[in-house]
Amino acid sequence: MSYVITPPAPVSVPVVGSKDRFPVNRIYCVGRNYVEHAKEMGFTGREAPFFFIKPADTCLVLEAGQTGTLHYPSLTKDFHHEIELVACIGTGGKNIKAADAKKHIYGYAVGLDMTRRDLQGEQKKLGRPWCIGKTFDEAAPIGPITPAAQAGDVENAEIYVQVNGQDRQRSTVSKLIWNIGEIIEHLSTAWELRPGDLIYTGTPEGVAAVVPGDTLSGGVAGLEPITLKVV
Ligand code: MN
Repeated sequence: MSYVITPPAPVSVPVVGSKDRFPVNRIYCVGRNYVEHAKEMGFTGREAPFFFIKPADTCLVLEAGQTGTLHYPSLTKDFHHEIELVACIGTGGKNIKAADAKKHIYGYAVGLDMTRRDLQGEQKKLGRPWCIGKTFDEAAPIGPITPAAQAGDVENAEIYVQVNGQDRQRSTVSKLIWNIGEIIEHLSTAWELRPGDLIYTGTPEGVAAVVPGDTLSGGVAGLEPITLKVV
């Protein structure tokens, strides 16, 4: 078979300790999943989980040890970092119980849910979808994936991001309102999870703007850290 136009190249993420790569299918993101972040966004922190999706080709894939280049996006004057633990689905399924969720996870990575906060805020006020605030080229930086067996206790790991060496966000994954098993249980009732799906699990408090020239460095204890320069 041939195509009438050139098909897009598949998106894939490096895997720690392997020459083989992890192919990306969908990217699911969880909104307001740490109490202190929900509060800073003007909410109480007590609500059912909700989700939005970024296309796979919004991944900005970082190779091990690489300083990535993140292009400041168009239309915004308030470009925010959200550091997040990313759960990477190896085995798909529908209606997965929280207690069984771990069996579906191939591994974990450090990601950033980059956000055009001013555009997101305008859409919220208008009662419109957040699409333009959350989805744009390079909106989903991600570092190398560590297989689950080697990732340690990610659910109790420290999570942080620094800008130009100064702490912006620092918390622990144990403060998730909905833990990873519960996220997968909720998600898999709404969508059939597929191998290659990424789940950005939410961000702790401290979201703030970056500008061209800034260097972002983020991590989750036990996983490969990421470094990005905004240009
Ligand atoms: Mn987020």
